[in-house]
Amino acid sequence: MDSSQIEMVENPENSHPPCNQWKNYVPDTSKLYKTPMRYLKVNFHIMQRADGSGNFDEEAAINYVNMLLWISNLTLESKNQKMNLPVGNNTEVLPPRYQYVLTPDPSIPNDDGIYFHQDEELYFMVSRGRDKDIFKKDVIHKYAIQKDEVINIFFMAHHADSLKAESYHGTDIGVALGTSVKLLGLKTNYDKPIDDTNTVFYREWFMQGLLNHEIGHVLGLSHSWIKHDRCPDTPPHTNCWNYSAPPCNHVSNNVMDYNVYRSAWSPCQIGIVHNNLSNKDSRQRKLLVKNWCDLDPNKTVKIRTDEIWDSSVDLFGNLIVENDATLTINCRVSIPKGGKIIIKPRGKLILGKTCLLENDCDDEWEGILLQASSKEKGKVISYGTPIFKNMKHSIQK
Ligand SMILES: [Zn+2]
Repeated sequence: MDSSQIEMVENPENSHPPCNQWKNYVPDTSKLYKTPMRYLKVNFHIMQRADGSGNFDEEAAINYVNMLLWISNLTLESKNQKMNLPVGNNTEVLPPRYQYVLTPDPSIPNDDGIYFHQDEELYFMVSRGRDKDIFKKDVIHKYAIQKDEVINIFFMAHHADSLKAESYHGTDIGVALGTSVKLLGLKTNYDKPIDDTNTVFYREWFMQGLLNHEIGHVLGLSHSWIKHDRCPDTPPHTNCWNYSAPPCNHVSNNVMDYNVYRSAWSPCQIGIVHNNLSNKDSRQRKLLVKNWCDLDPNKTVKIRTDEIWDSSVDLFGNLIVENDATLTINCRVSIPKGGKIIIKPRGKLILGKTCLLENDCDDEWEGILLQASSKEKGKVISYGTPIFKNMKHSIQK
């Protein structure tokens, strides 16, 4: 590190490190390079009885999985709804900025990421009553594949004996356990309508709500009808499933409530998810397709006005601070392999106290290039001792 190129100054304010606050991870639609689209790895396990019955057969399961993934991704990508609650709200509708990717295990030949298990002991889940076992993890312990890096989603069946009992409701439910998800009843209810209008069935278009809800838990979200879900934009309410007499004349559409809509993500919820996905110590970050390692020349970020980065950022291209602009970096920034930070002659880079510039993939990035004109030269100013990791060259003219 050539420290002669850095001007050291006192920190103007002893502010609390901002890098782990959800507020700083809410997407700014004019600066989406700070919230890149994230791709979460998923695989699916279809639990069948010993003779292969009791759940989708192979062909139906593959169709169902692909359709469910497509619809869940479409909902996330382009169908986030305005929040129903509180009544009269002005809550912004922002892009959730994550998607799911079916992920085979590279160590299994011809793997497609969809697995079938015939297991008389573990094919079922009991959702209520004396034998309720929804929180049991034995099916996960036995069959999960790439467990810490991939969200394992299990299609469980109702127990054959439970379905015979008249009092048993073979409802769809889901449960998230760590980085795995168990979904119950998708096959049993496939042809059932959700209400007496007989227009919507418990099929993929409807079940995206359950999948997105359970993955919401995996990503760190709580139920949103409760008071302490950490989100000021998701008010407590009575959690009505659908419209009926008061208090159900107002029904939430939030994905983390129990309701027929489950298609609204609030800014706070999106912020919590991206805070977790950017935190190097979180279990959620390990579930991401790590696509920020190599330089993409088409993804150069140009800073044209003053900006302060109070969140961790994974860059995919070079970073340029243009003339008359100042960029302040207060958190971790990953620069891709071979990438550089370029400061134009009248540009300025401020490195805050908790700043870390690195390549997150243990490769080298080029370094910081200070461009000069006849009169001026790009500046780097530091409010402490910024940490540089994997930087090939010290700061250069
Ligand atoms: Zn839940």
